[in-house]
Amino acid sequence: MKYLIKDTPLYKGKAKSVYRSEIDGEFIVKFRDDITAFDGGKKDILKGKGRYNALVSSHIFRLLEEKGIRTHFIRMIDETTMVVMELSMIPLEVIVRNVAAGSMTRKYPINEGTKLSQPVIVIDYKDDSRHDPMLNDDLILALDLLNKEELEELKEISLRINNIMYDYMHDRDITLVDFKIEFGKQNGNIILGDEISMDSMRLWDSKTGDSMDKDVYRFDKGDVMKSYESVAARILDNKVKGEP
Ligand code: 5GP
Repeated sequence: MKYLIKDTPLYKGKAKSVYRSEIDGEFIVKFRDDITAFDGGKKDILKGKGRYNALVSSHIFRLLEEKGIRTHFIRMIDETTMVVMELSMIPLEVIVRNVAAGSMTRKYPINEGTKLSQPVIVIDYKDDSRHDPMLNDDLILALDLLNKEELEELKEISLRINNIMYDYMHDRDITLVDFKIEFGKQNGNIILGDEISMDSMRLWDSKTGDSMDKDVYRFDKGDVMKSYESVAARILDNKVKGEP
């Protein structure tokens, strides 16, 4: 099957580029080696990083599909390039937390590492120019981003995704501290889109407590590529080698 990656992406994000495919209703997502943090205030290129994120993301999408979650994932073209369903994206960042860390410990009186008695969902409005302000249910309805039933469904799917991923990671000695996901719609159905990677999850080694995600880059905690490779190896059950 032929795909058309035109020179100009339809959309270029901080770490991914989205291209139109020759096939109607499909997009091509290329995971790049760019890494950024602090609203783009820190940026670098780490060779091979896009591949690890693409491999992990596609593996998790497949896992979720097997468990009955609808995702935009169709297939991989190569180890950095994913074919996905075209969705009408909902401008929300849904964050699910299992352990207190990151902005939760900066904003609220809770210590990093505190296990939450039940998962916490926080939904932000996705808009870099507004620094992704936090929403609540009333604001989501008032801004007409979702109706009540859709909002309930989105939360319910997010918790199911959390359960599946938490258990999967736990079996591989990784604590899923928190993660961010994004959804889109197709024919009225809410479908998981975007990516689930080391750029969008907070992961700690269950034995040592070491960070294995973008926090390693954000806070200069060590070798970012070693951490990403280690997550990819565990999640793909060692079916990933250091170099393509
Ligand atoms: P926090 O609110 O602690 O900064 O982030 C919570 C979780 O959501 C972390 O796993 C973080 O990586 C993810 N997250 C929050 N905002 C973004 C974002 O704009 N982009 C990405 N890729 N992940 C985000």
